[in-house]
Amino acid sequence: ETPILEVEDLARYFDVSRPWLQRVLAGEGKRTLRAVDGISFAIPRGTTLSLVGESGCGKSTVARLVVGLYPPSKGRVVFEGMDLERARAIAEQRRRMQMIFQDPYASLNPRWRVKDIVAEPIRAFGMTPSAAAQQEKVAELLTQVGLSPLDGEKFPHEFSGGQRQRISIARALSSNPDFLVCDEPTSALDVSVQAQILNLMKDLQARLGLTYLFISHNLAVVRQVSDRIGVMYLGRLVELAPAETLFTTPRHPYTRALMEAIPDLEMTGRQRIPVGGEVPSPISPPSGCPFHPRCPLANDRCKAERPGLVAARATEQSLTACHAVEEGRDGGLPAAQRIG
Ligand code: SF4
Repeated sequence: ETPILEVEDLARYFDVSRPWLQRVLAGEGKRTLRAVDGISFAIPRGTTLSLVGESGCGKSTVARLVVGLYPPSKGRVVFEGMDLERARAIAEQRRRMQMIFQDPYASLNPRWRVKDIVAEPIRAFGMTPSAAAQQEKVAELLTQVGLSPLDGEKFPHEFSGGQRQRISIARALSSNPDFLVCDEPTSALDVSVQAQILNLMKDLQARLGLTYLFISHNLAVVRQVSDRIGVMYLGRLVELAPAETLFTTPRHPYTRALMEAIPDLEMTGRQRIPVGGEVPSPISPPSGCPFHPRCPLANDRCKAERPGLVAARATEQSLTACHAVEEGRDGGLPAAQRIG
């Protein structure tokens, strides 16, 4: 079966030649920010791929490229076997792809009643023949996301953060999409509310056969919802693996460093990698492997040659962009650096 979404060698560059941007971003005369720099993945129907990484790694830019909010500088996005640009020109295809944003406060029009917010895509895509049918559909959607049909008469400010995110989800579902791009959908919420929204999203996926591209800076959050996880660093994918494989046997030193930040995760000393330092500016990324200034396993090859994303072992489904993994020298750290 063809994947619902395929991304091939996708890149998005931004022009940062204006003087004030140079000052803000410490660009040192460089003119281009490579926010996303040549990434490829596919998402099979009914599954969830999550992209994780620190802020500035390019994950939100990927989300925007995938729904067509930005055109790519290079590469392409293929939705249902069709080039995204062509797909976006057809309302029927556009309706099938929706986005949920991080901030339910900002993404809901405060002057509109909830029923009108939820019905907006239904009207935009001309989907219901009558006002009565529309009302019925809105009531059904509100029930599906755990709200009451009576909530349709209220305004967004009358709801909590978690309830507002439920309203955003109802709105995203109102055009009967197959594919949802969720950009940090729970990171503005309290931890207990986060879990409820993630459970709701999983239920809806099972019930409606949805496919998700899920964007988050939080590995612990994506663990609950993902079939596969891609780890991004400075605009590139450094590891792409089935979710459980990523947690039981993380391979890339950056993935192992991110795992360090999850308190309860059971890891062996062999897998631990402590990493210090800041993420370098994406305007002037380091030579070779962009992670080398922070990586305890870096050697001369790492400084000179950029590793490609390749299968870590012939039998594994994980892909890793790391010379140490490829050379089989990723097992341990020098004794002085080993912890745990
Ligand atoms: Fe570290 Fe080298 Fe692997 Fe990059 S390629 S992550 S620097 S070991």
